[in-house]
Amino acid sequence: MPPTQAQQTVLPIRSVLNMKESLWRTAWTKAIFLSFCWASYFISVLIGALIYYLILPRITYIEWIHYTILALFLSFYFVLGAGLFLISLTAITGIDLLYPHNKKSITVKLLFPIAVTLSQLFGVNRDKLRASFVKVNNAMTLAQRKRIRGDRILILLPHCLQIDVCNRKITNDIQNCQKCGNCPVGQLVELGEKYGLNLQVVNGGTLARRRVASFNPSGIVAVACERDLTLGIQDVFPIPVYGVINDRPNGPCFNTCVDMSIVEDAIKFFKENRETNVAA
Ligand code: SF4
Repeated sequence: MPPTQAQQTVLPIRSVLNMKESLWRTAWTKAIFLSFCWASYFISVLIGALIYYLILPRITYIEWIHYTILALFLSFYFVLGAGLFLISLTAITGIDLLYPHNKKSITVKLLFPIAVTLSQLFGVNRDKLRASFVKVNNAMTLAQRKRIRGDRILILLPHCLQIDVCNRKITNDIQNCQKCGNCPVGQLVELGEKYGLNLQVVNGGTLARRRVASFNPSGIVAVACERDLTLGIQDVFPIPVYGVINDRPNGPCFNTCVDMSIVEDAIKFFKENRETNVAA
C-alpha cells in the first residue's frame, strides 16, 4: 500500500534541507579532484625517482638493465601524466581529447586511491572529493557526445528513494509503483514514460551490475550517493555515465530525494545524442 497523506509530514522539511544540502554541491567544483590527482601524480613521480636513485648503484654497471629500467620508469610516468593531462583538459574545456581505448582508465584507477588518502590528510571530506570526481566524469561524458550512441539508455535509481512506509516491490519492477506522489519514484516513473526509457531500481552494487550486464546500455543516468556513484562509474567504464548525486536530508540510505531537473537534463542529453548520432 502507498503511504497515506498523514505519514508524509516529512516532505516539506525535506525539501528545505534538500536545498541547503545541494548548495555546497553546486559550489563544489571539478578543480578539487583534478588538483588532488595532480598532487598524487607528482608524489608518485617523487617515489619513483627515489626508488630509481636507491637501485641506481646496483644497476649502473650493467648498461642494458640500467637503460631498460629507466625506459620503463619514464614510459610509465609519461603515460600516467599524459592520461591525466588529457582528462584535465577534456573536463575543463569540454573538448573531447580522450583516446577511445574501451579499457579501464589506468590513470583514474591508480591515482584515485592516492588522491583520496591525500585529501584526507588535508582534511577534505571524502564525499566532497567523490562529488568532484562525479563532476569531472560528467564533464567528460558531455565532452564525448559525438562518440556516444544514446539509443539504449538505462536509468539506475537507488532503492532509498522509495519512502520507507511504502511496501510496493519496485526493485522487482518499477511499474509496481502507483505514482501516488509521496516519494520521488512516482515522478521518475513518469519521466521514464515521457521519454520511453528503461528504469531500474537497485538496492546495491551487485544488482546494479547485473542490470547493466543484462540491458547492455549505451548510456546510463545513475542516481546514487557519492560513494556508490564513484564505484559504479569506474565499474561500468567505458559505458558513459551521467551521475546525479541524491540528497539525504534524513541521513544516508533513508528516504532520500533527487533534483528532477538534473535527471531530466541528463536524459535530454542522451536523447539528443541519439537523434544527432542516428541522423549523422
Ligand atoms: S510514489 Fe510509488 S514508490 Fe513512492 S510511495 Fe507512492 S507508490 Fe510507493
